[in-house]
Amino acid sequence: MRVLLVGGGGREHALALGLAADPAVDKLFAAPGNPGIGQLAELRQVTPTDPVAVAALAVETGADLVVIGPEAPLVAGVADAVRAKGIAVFGPSAAAARLEGSKTFAKDVMTAAGVPTARAYTCADEATAAAALDEFGAPYVVKNDGLAAGKGVVVTDDRAVALRHAAECGQVVVEEYLAGPEVSLFVVTDGEAALPLLPAQDFKRVGDNDSGPNTGGMGAYAPLPWAPPGLVDEVMRDVVHPTLAELRRRGTPFVGLLYVGLAITADGPRVIEFNARFGDPETQVVLALLETPLGGLLHAASTGTLADHPPLRWRDGAAVTVVVAAEGYPAAPRTGDVVSGAEGAGFIHAGTRRAPDGTLCSAGGRVLCATATGADLTAARDAAYALVSGVGLAGSHYRTDIAAAAVAGRVTIPG
Ligand code: AMP
Repeated sequence: MRVLLVGGGGREHALALGLAADPAVDKLFAAPGNPGIGQLAELRQVTPTDPVAVAALAVETGADLVVIGPEAPLVAGVADAVRAKGIAVFGPSAAAARLEGSKTFAKDVMTAAGVPTARAYTCADEATAAAALDEFGAPYVVKNDGLAAGKGVVVTDDRAVALRHAAECGQVVVEEYLAGPEVSLFVVTDGEAALPLLPAQDFKRVGDNDSGPNTGGMGAYAPLPWAPPGLVDEVMRDVVHPTLAELRRRGTPFVGLLYVGLAITADGPRVIEFNARFGDPETQVVLALLETPLGGLLHAASTGTLADHPPLRWRDGAAVTVVVAAEGYPAAPRTGDVVSGAEGAGFIHAGTRRAPDGTLCSAGGRVLCATATGADLTAARDAAYALVSGVGLAGSHYRTDIAAAAVAGRVTIPG
């Protein structure tokens, strides 16, 4: 099988590791990729959000499968353009990707499907937003209605800050605060059959103990020792299958990766958000534990044959990834600094490039994901932080508490 992977961040490097390890994948292309992916795949230049260009590249490379990593190409209709060429593609149509591209659309689907989620209002002006904030009370949750690369959400006790975010975004969704630990559940689906991957947890805030602003994600771990037994079955029954059925009913079946972001509240799991693609950096830990060949799995989902796919197999133990971020991230990351100590196994490249002389440099806010597995969460965490300690990058920062609460048995479900 010849595979073309679209994207160039940490998630795509993790996908490339999985695809390259699949004996059924005999040629891997990535566009645009990054220096880490370049060790596993032939890199091509493309604008990932250009449907015509990506479809042409899929034809030119003779791809049997196109895997689309980021959300922006999906929302832009890249999967539709590739599918129109008769090539299998892992990633939803633009219509189905609205599950991520529009918070209002996602809420509408959830309501129609009876999916448990926070109560919410779509607000297009300040007066409506203010009324919604006052109805729900603090902590206030205000979400930009469009795509915001995971950074369009403000959760705050400060009403003025919440109102300012609403004013800056234009149209927002104001919703009830959901108290409880968060879970990311990835589901591979062909639109009807659906296979859940291992639940993971990510860390959205930039600083230790969930301080500072939201980011794209500062680290992750899997599995979740504290997750209630039966959680995955419950979410598949109450969230995933009703949502997939509602999208089929609307004539826009969802093919690809349905990312269910949940809060485990006193009343049970509640959906915080849907995404239409693998999460970054949870993918790094989930795929590190997946033993089933990735290419075959994604191909089955892309060709409507997932019901015939064998059950997934998982490695024993745990995985932890710690993001090393550039100075100034998330507000104003500095790029172009030399990165050293990141050449060995376990360094997933998120935002790097090679200078003309071959030196590895930072090229984004999240630069590296130091990723390790271990016999248990403690061992995986120690190994991930050992990797981090060898990285040289001026001004970089990382969280020191990834998976710490889980290791200490301090993650609790309210109620
Ligand atoms: P989202 O982009 O919707 O995932 O939101 C980013 C982050 O904001 C989530 O990972 C949560 O930590 C937080 N968040 C979003 N919605 C809520 C909510 N209703 N209650 C509590 N926290 C939330």
